Amino acid sequence: MTFESVLTQARSEGRDLLNEVEAKQLLQEAGIPVTTTVLAVTQEEASAEAARVGYPVVLKIVSPDIAHKSDVGGVKVGLEDDAAVNAAYEEIVGNAKKAVPNANITGVAVQNMAGEGTEVIVGMTTDPQFGPVMMFGLGGIMVEVLKDVSFRVVPLTERDAAQMIDEIKGSAVLDGVRGQPPVDKAALCDAILKVAEFVEQHPEVQELDLNPMIAYSDGAIAVDARIVVSAS
Ligand code: ADP
Ligand code: MG
Repeated sequence: MTFESVLTQARSEGRDLLNEVEAKQLLQEAGIPVTTTVLAVTQEEASAEAARVGYPVVLKIVSPDIAHKSDVGGVKVGLEDDAAVNAAYEEIVGNAKKAVPNANITGVAVQNMAGEGTEVIVGMTTDPQFGPVMMFGLGGIMVEVLKDVSFRVVPLTERDAAQMIDEIKGSAVLDGVRGQPPVDKAALCDAILKVAEFVEQHPEVQELDLNPMIAYSDGAIAVDARIVVSAS
């Protein structure tokens, strides 16, 4: 799957939002670690894909009309077996239809469940003046309420990426608190740089979010991804 083919497909459907499955495939090809994520359009497919991906799995709604999946009951994590996957499939589609009655539902994304770690956000927005700007922050309320984020204009040096990680106010969390080991900052640095390269190579990308990326003492992995492209 090439960027051009995904872009053409999205534009032909009048979408500017690449779905999670598309976004993760492109990011994976760009060398950014993501959870293995496949689209299922029936309960049977979801069940077969879950067995292939390996339990525990996560199921999520895929719809161009639903941006915040958990807000509509569209995310089920920690599914341990086939029965749980079947139930979650029905529930997710039902919840989505209830929350957004006219939503166009593409299907359900089946993915492996990443282990617990520290949630961070790696993002890109397009500034009218500066063009693509990279953003980094801690996940959850830290970014939403406290706006504790750092920015750098693309292109980035390795030093820029390292500074982005260290200059957020909550950076101590990444150095390990309450006996937790520090997170792998080199892995985060690498992800920031690779996302920056990806957006540099694809000027059609207007916005990109890995929200969250889960960081560990060894490595990091994006569990949610969103890419917005220009309309033409
Ligand atoms: P939303 O559209 O609501 O942002 P997400 O895909 O980010 O949906 O899922 C919501 C939350 O569920 C994430 O912030 C993360 O904590 C958890 N989550 C999602 N996918 C996974 C996964 N593959 N492995 C582990 N946790 C996950
Ligand atoms: Mg998310």
